[in-house]
Amino acid sequence: MTPAGGPPPYPSRDADARPSVAASPAALRRLADDLFVEARAAAARRGTPDLTFMEVCGTHTMAIARYGLRDLLPPEVRLISGPGCPVCVTAMGDLDRVIALARLPAVTLTTFGDLIRVPASRSSLAAERAAGADVRVVYSARDAVEIAAAEPGRQVVFAGIGFETTAPTVAAALLEARTRGVANFSVLGLHKTMPLPLKALLELGETEIAGFLLPGHVSVVTGSAGYQFLARDFGVGGVVAGFEAHDVLRALLSLVRQATPAIEIEYARAVRPEGNLVAQGLLARVMEPCDADWRGLGVIPGSGLRLRGEFAALDAERRFAIHAGEPLEPAGCRCGEVLRGVLDPAECALFGARCTPEDPVGACMVSSEGACAARYRYRGLDD
Ligand code: SF4
Repeated sequence: MTPAGGPPPYPSRDADARPSVAASPAALRRLADDLFVEARAAAARRGTPDLTFMEVCGTHTMAIARYGLRDLLPPEVRLISGPGCPVCVTAMGDLDRVIALARLPAVTLTTFGDLIRVPASRSSLAAERAAGADVRVVYSARDAVEIAAAEPGRQVVFAGIGFETTAPTVAAALLEARTRGVANFSVLGLHKTMPLPLKALLELGETEIAGFLLPGHVSVVTGSAGYQFLARDFGVGGVVAGFEAHDVLRALLSLVRQATPAIEIEYARAVRPEGNLVAQGLLARVMEPCDADWRGLGVIPGSGLRLRGEFAALDAERRFAIHAGEPLEPAGCRCGEVLRGVLDPAECALFGARCTPEDPVGACMVSSEGACAARYRYRGLDD
């Protein structure tokens, strides 16, 4: 426990932009001890046997599994995963359109590696590549611009999947392509934005969520101000967390300590309330809000990003006639429920049996940020 009147014996809340200091095992233990005491008090104060917190970000899901943090949690604290893995929340119909684009003979389809093995309705990019399609993994949209510049005979399309973290880099690539006159580059804009799915989840009300571990990477760009509605309109607090073990535990400690729901930042070495204004400006210059289809949540108005009309010439949606069939969800896959936090990955009947990272049935088992992949990789089948 924290000694009365003294500072906590573990890394305290970031006061400024100093780099992260890794906590020692003993410091983590003390942090967990404080969480035990304060979670019990918070549960009693709120008159509930347990407090369910949702980690929104897929990177948090993976960090929590990798550090084995669930084993350190008090019985009053339950952690569930949310819709924060961009590949996982991409709707089947959108995956099918990526596949349809990859099948066009003139197209070189570029994407991040996470997407390659994700099952679409009838195929995957890996299967299409094996069948002869020109599918290439890139590390940034700018890499795709370079490919287009080097191969003017190809139509190079970048599959733009991700949240506010990656969207500004895609916006920058689009501006660069336009400035350099790389006319054979285009983007299929499937980006999504973060705050609105949390509103959708709370409105659905399937699970009593006591608070959110808010995403670290996304909040670097967006800031924390956009989450205020959670506390104001829904009475649910949130804490922006970093990705070290002590970051997550400290954010949980802040959540259980909240007497009044509030939005806090426990990742001040990277996140400011107002976010990164340069990245926001870049994004606003190139993209605008649109409706987006989320796996598990359906269409959420205004939660996606599309290219502004000024960039229509670089919009793959307008450049190509994309014909994809009716989307088909894999039989038995319950990714939608996992992404809404109503189903633990291990509760899916296919988990670890028919569905493994080597032979995935659903997106949540493929992505490096997927809840099923995290559970399988770090907890195995024991639970
Ligand atoms: S274990 Fe596999 S099939 Fe089940 S929800 Fe997860 S990804 Fe889908």
